Amino acid sequence: MMMAGILILLWSTSRSALTSVHGFASPILTQQFSRLRGNENANSLVRTFSAIDNSTTTIDSTSVSDDALIKAQRAERKRKKLLTKAAAAKRRKFIGLAKAVDRGQFKTTYQPGGSSGVSFVAKSGLPQDYSSRPFTVLGIESSCDDTGAAVVRSDGVILGESLASQAHIHEEWGGIVPGLAKAAHEENIDRVIEEALERAQTTLEEIDAIGVTVGPGLELCLRVGSEKACQLATDFKKPFVGIHHLEAHILMARLENQEALEFPFLALLVSGGHCQLLKCLGVGRYAVIGGTLDDSLGECYDKTARLLGLPIGGGGGPALEALAKNGNATAIPLTIPLQKRQDCDFSYAGLKTNIRRAAEKLVLERGVESALELSEEDKADLAASFQNTAIKHLEQRLVRAMKMMEKEDINTLTVVGGVAANQEIRRRLQNLCDDRDWSMVVPPPRLCTDQGAMASWAAIERLRMGSSDDPSNQDIYARYPFSFYDNSPETNNE
Ligand code: ADP
Ligand code: MG
Repeated sequence: MMMAGILILLWSTSRSALTSVHGFASPILTQQFSRLRGNENANSLVRTFSAIDNSTTTIDSTSVSDDALIKAQRAERKRKKLLTKAAAAKRRKFIGLAKAVDRGQFKTTYQPGGSSGVSFVAKSGLPQDYSSRPFTVLGIESSCDDTGAAVVRSDGVILGESLASQAHIHEEWGGIVPGLAKAAHEENIDRVIEEALERAQTTLEEIDAIGVTVGPGLELCLRVGSEKACQLATDFKKPFVGIHHLEAHILMARLENQEALEFPFLALLVSGGHCQLLKCLGVGRYAVIGGTLDDSLGECYDKTARLLGLPIGGGGGPALEALAKNGNATAIPLTIPLQKRQDCDFSYAGLKTNIRRAAEKLVLERGVESALELSEEDKADLAASFQNTAIKHLEQRLVRAMKMMEKEDINTLTVVGGVAANQEIRRRLQNLCDDRDWSMVVPPPRLCTDQGAMASWAAIERLRMGSSDDPSNQDIYARYPFSFYDNSPETNNE
């Protein structure tokens, strides 16, 4: 009897305590509570408390029936689902806020497939019987700091190539000076074309078509290559293709691997001027699903290399990568960019500042004059920590893009552009793909950076689709975004 009295007393105090703190009732409390009661109502009470465990809704356990409880639980589940849906819709709105996405703000966008994305038009004729025999294309690239030319055959064989690097000029001036770059292109272009033809053991009369980069890039530099190619195509009456530089980077991954890299696939384009995630639907058909809000990854590598006094001619990436091999990747705490932004965009400007401040702090601690005077060990730690954080940012954005693509049964990734030559990036992204059962196709490192074969191969892919341009009417475009072709709800951001 006395035991029963104690139990009743305990029951009433426990109940009032639990109903007053119901919002925080833990499963352990709930279990103890039902054990104390030890009767058939325990189940309904357990349900009561589990229903209110993580919510702020108050439900009085004494007055609600099982039906009412189930209804309350359903309503709560519905409310949570709606909230999740609203958050997802909000996230989707962010996707594609990247600068590079065509929202009608650009005068010229790349649209070789017409408004449908598939209606290719040949404007200057195609090689006769091109589908029954391999054909050869002379490609010219002068969008930035390297003058490149190559003769490539339509079965993917590079017959001959030549590249005039301007690294020594940039090393001397501490970066690219457009006027100097233009002068160097003018000086080198004839020689580079001649060398490529000679090495391929062919002539301008014999080749079947000409392709040249017409954008995006430095206007002064693009013009040198474009004018030369247009003139040659007109003089020798050759089919002509105006190449989009970024498409050429992407298609380069197919040069040796057309079966492994069939459309559609996801492309991560990382270069000195660009940082984008693209859903590649076909030649001339790309949907930008993320881009950089400020700096590109290549630019960030170059600035960090300069900060540490490394050679920057031809880009500071290779020197920084080499130095990072000797450093501790977790020695310097750095912040991974855009942690709160749930989209596929990138930002590298903050990391650039972050690494500069970290170097300044080390300079103070070590009592030296500048980052250039830091020990090799400190510099290697800075380089390794920078690279590790930069790659973490890539990985995070990539995983999000991969999840989106998986819903559309896309599970192949290509990584292209100059920065894709980086072995550590290739290794880490390959691991990511292995973990998610994706396949990854990357061009050989030397074909990741700018060279002539990329213009030849992109022209071959376009010619095969029945697409070419008019050399008498070809302009160049410093900014030349992909037109936005997409019809899937996931990436439709209008
Ligand atoms: P662009 O951006 O003018 O088209 P590229 O596509 O050739 O030129 O990319 C050049 C960029 O790639 C430079 O910023 C360079 O530092 C970077 N890069 C080249 N090799 C590496 C590497 N191994 N690691 C990191 N970055 C690299
Ligand atoms: Mg490039």
